[in-house]
Amino acid sequence: MSSFDENDAFEGASLSARAMAALRPEADYLNELNPAQREAVELLDGPILMLAGAGTGKTKALTTRIAHLLNTGRARPNEILAVTFTNKAAREMKERVGRLLGQPAEGMPWLGTFHSICVKLLRRHAELAGLKSNFTILDTDDQLRLLKQLVQAANIDDKRWPARMLAGIIDDWKNRALTPDKVPAADAGAYNNKGVELYAQYQTRLRELNAVDFGDLLLHMVTIFQTHPDVLEQYQRWFRYILVDEYQDTNIAQYLWLRLLAGGHKNICCVGDDDQSIYGWRGAEVGNILRFEKDFPGAHVVRLEQNYRSTPHILAAASNVIRGNESRLGKELWTDKPGGEKVRLIGHWDGEEEARWIGEEIEAMLGGTRGVRPLELNEIAIMVRTMAQMEAFDDRFKSIGLPYRILGPRLDDTQEARDAHAYFRTVLSSDNELAFERIINKPKRGVGDKTLQKIRSKARANNVSLFRGLQLMLDEGELGGKVGAQLRELVANFVRWRRASEDKSVDVRSLAEAILDESGYTQMWQDTQTPDAPGRLENLKTLVHRLEKHNTLLEYMEEIELRDANDRNDDVPKVSIMTLHAAKGLEFPAVFLPGWEDGLFPSQRSMDETGLKGLEEERRLAYVGITRAEEVCTISFAANRRVFGQWQNAMPSRFIDELPEDHVEVLTPPGLYGGGQMSAGIETRAAQANVYNSPGWKRMQARQGQYGMSQPRESRNTVIDATAVASFTLGERVFHQKFGYGGVVGIEGDKVEVEFDKAGTKKVVAQYLSAKDDVPF
Ligand code: ATP
Ligand code: MG
Repeated sequence: MSSFDENDAFEGASLSARAMAALRPEADYLNELNPAQREAVELLDGPILMLAGAGTGKTKALTTRIAHLLNTGRARPNEILAVTFTNKAAREMKERVGRLLGQPAEGMPWLGTFHSICVKLLRRHAELAGLKSNFTILDTDDQLRLLKQLVQAANIDDKRWPARMLAGIIDDWKNRALTPDKVPAADAGAYNNKGVELYAQYQTRLRELNAVDFGDLLLHMVTIFQTHPDVLEQYQRWFRYILVDEYQDTNIAQYLWLRLLAGGHKNICCVGDDDQSIYGWRGAEVGNILRFEKDFPGAHVVRLEQNYRSTPHILAAASNVIRGNESRLGKELWTDKPGGEKVRLIGHWDGEEEARWIGEEIEAMLGGTRGVRPLELNEIAIMVRTMAQMEAFDDRFKSIGLPYRILGPRLDDTQEARDAHAYFRTVLSSDNELAFERIINKPKRGVGDKTLQKIRSKARANNVSLFRGLQLMLDEGELGGKVGAQLRELVANFVRWRRASEDKSVDVRSLAEAILDESGYTQMWQDTQTPDAPGRLENLKTLVHRLEKHNTLLEYMEEIELRDANDRNDDVPKVSIMTLHAAKGLEFPAVFLPGWEDGLFPSQRSMDETGLKGLEEERRLAYVGITRAEEVCTISFAANRRVFGQWQNAMPSRFIDELPEDHVEVLTPPGLYGGGQMSAGIETRAAQANVYNSPGWKRMQARQGQYGMSQPRESRNTVIDATAVASFTLGERVFHQKFGYGGVVGIEGDKVEVEFDKAGTKKVVAQYLSAKDDVPF
C-alpha cells in the first residue's frame, strides 16, 4: 500500500494558492447568501443538515462552504471529501468553487460521485479485500455471464430461475451493505433458497478473477472500514470535512460509508430534500436523511424556505402537487420573485403534434416572439418520463434543424439497444469484430471463452475476420456438437439477413424485427423474469419502430452513428432533452414537461410494482420536474399516443388535476381552428378553449379514439361540432376537463351541479361537461 504522501490525491495545495487565499480576507461570496445559508457555510465544525425544498440554495450553500473552507485555510483541497450525484454535478461544483474563489479550484481529488471516490480508495487498499490494486470493474454483461456459469454449475433451471434475477437480488444486498455472511435469515429463501450460497460463490469467483462489480466498490470499502479500524482512522483524520449533496438519494451502503468516515470529527454537512427522493427503485432510502439528527446528536439543522429559482406560479404548482403525498415532512416554500407567467397546460391530439408544437414554441422563444425576452438554446429543456418519449423530439427537431442534445441515459446506451445494433452491424458487415463478438453468445449458444479463443485463432491464422474464421471452422468440421449446430444456424441466418437487407422490396422494420426474433434475442428477454425485463422489451419495440422511418438498415445505422457524434459535440449551445431522473439538481429558464398521461406519468409499471409507494415516488418526480423551471413551465399531454407503432388513447395524468387552478393557464392547441393562435390574445384563446371543450368536439374525439386512429391535421376543422350541447340527467356520470369525473346532482338552465370525485361539489357550465361515455381521452 502506498503512503498518503505518495499519492497525488493527497498532495498539499500549492503554496501560491494558499498565499492567494491569505490575500483575500474579505470573503464577498458570503454576501451572496441569506442568513440561514450563511450559517450553514460559516458553522464549520460539527454535523450540519440542510433539509430544504427545491431551489432554496442548498447546492449553492454547499459549494460556498467548500470555497469558505479553502479560503479560510481550514482545509486543503485534498482534505475535503465532497460527494455529488453525477459526474456532471461534480464538474459543475468544481467550476462554481473556482468562480467563488476567483481562481480555478485546483486539485480537489475527492470531489466526485460515491463510485468514483470509492474506486480510488479501493485501489489503495485492494489487498484488504483480497484483490490486487489493478482489479477490473465488471460491467453488467460480465457480471451476468459470471453468474450464469455459477447457476449452471449448481444445476439450477435458469428458465425458472434466471441468472438476471439473482443479479438483482445480489445488487439489492450490496446496496444494503450485506456481505454473504450478513444476509438476514428473512432473505434465506431468496432465489429458490440458493441465493445466499450463490452470492458467496460469486464473491469468491470475483476475487479469483481480481474483479469487482459496481456494488462491490462501496461494499468493500464499508467492510474494510469496519474490519480495519486503523485504516478507517487514517481517513477520518485525512478527510477533515465531508459534504454530501442530494443526500435523500443515498442507499444504505453509501450511508454507512459516510457515517463511518464522519465518525471521528463529525464534520459532516449533508443537504437534501425528502420531496426529491426519486431513486427508491435503486435502493435509495429517504429514511437516511430523516435519521440524520439521531445519527449525529446535536446536529445543527438549517432550514431554507426561500426559493430563488422559480416564479410564484411555478412554485405554487409544484407545492400543490407534492402536497398529495402523505409520507413527507411537509415544507412550505416562498419566493419574492415577481409574478411571471402562469404554468401553461396544453392538451394535444397526439404525441407527434405535441413534439411539433413544442418545436414551434421553442423557435418562438428563441426569436423573442413568445415570452418576455428572447431565450438562448441552452436555456430550454424538455424533461420526459421515459426514454421512448425522446424519439418524437429526435425526429421533429432534426427535421426543423433545431440543435438539441440528450443528457443522461438514452435508448441507444441501453444494453438491449447496443445488442440489437451489434446484430444490425454484423448483418451490414461481417467484418465488424466487436459487434459480432458482442452477440455471438447472446442469447446463449454455448460459446465460452475457450470456443471463442479457438475461433479467434482460426481467424488470425487465415488472416480473416472472426465471422469468416467461424465459417471456415464450420466448413472444415472443426466445431461439432450442440455449439456447432447453433453457430451454423447463426451464420446461415446472417447470410440470409444480409441478402434481405440488400433486397429493396423487403421492408426494413420487418427485417429488424425478424433479426431480433429469429436470432432468439427477443425470446431471451421474454424468458427473463427480472423487474427490468419488461422495460428492456419495450425499448426493443421502440427501437424496431424507429426503423419504419428508414429505407435501409444502413441508412438507419448511419443515423445512429451521427447521433452519437452529435451528442458528443458538447461545446455549442443546444436545447437539452433528458429524463426527469436525470434532471435532478438542474435548472433552466424554460422547461417543457410533455407526456403527462396516466400510465405514462405516473408510470403504470411503477404503480403496479410498488403501489402507493410507487405513486408517491412518481409524484416526487413531478415535483422535481416542475421545480426545474425558472420562468416558464409548460406541461402537456396527448389524447392519443403511438406506443411501439400502435395508437393508444390516454387519459390526462392524475397529477394534472392536482395543479392549482389559479396558477395554471390552459392553452388551446393551434392548428385546430385555423392555426397560429398561440400569439392571439387571452380572450380569443378562451373562446377557442370553449370550442375545444364542447361536448360535440369531445364526442367526435371519442369516436375517433375508439378506432385508435389519429385524424390528419388538416381534416380536423371539419369534424368539430361546436354547437352541440349535451343534456344531462340527475345521477349521470360526467367528466370535466379540469375537475375530472363526477355525478350530476342538480341542473339549473345551462348550469349543472356536479359532485366531483376529487374536486368536491361545483356548479359548472353544461358546455364544459361531457357524458362519461363520451370521454375523449
Ligand atoms: P435543488 O433542490 O433543485 O437541487 P437547491 O436547493 O440545490 O435546489 P440551488 O441550485 O443551490 O438550489 O439554487 C437555486 C438557484 O437559486 C440557483 O440559481 C442559485 O444561484 C440561486 N440562489 C441560491 N441562493 C441564493 C441567494 N441567497 N440569493 C440569490 N440567489 C440564490
Ligand atoms: Mg441542488
